[in-house]
Amino acid sequence: MNIFLYLAIFFFLLWIIFRKLYRKPPEEWKLYGKIVVVLICKDCNEHQQTGFDPNYNVGQKISIPCPSCGGQVYVEKIYFEPDPITEKEIQKYKKYEDTFR
Ligand SMILES: [Zn+2]
Repeated sequence: MNIFLYLAIFFFLLWIIFRKLYRKPPEEWKLYGKIVVVLICKDCNEHQQTGFDPNYNVGQKISIPCPSCGGQVYVEKIYFEPDPITEKEIQKYKKYEDTFR
């Protein structure tokens, strides 16, 4: 009777060990999020956020004038903003980063 209980515990531990061994490397994870483009006006220092545009580069002049003062607008930075779930996953596996490099 008790042998089945021991076997169940044994296989459960074996399953945990195998799960830890065959963890997927970070390269295979899907990343969800969005690319944020931050625009800055050189005259009034106002920041604007827009969606991703493949034609935008950092430091580039934008043809659309500033909505507040009509000044020249530049692309200040472009970055990837992961969604909260992806961000949590990144933090969780950050300690394994060196292992996969
Ligand atoms: Zn402005």
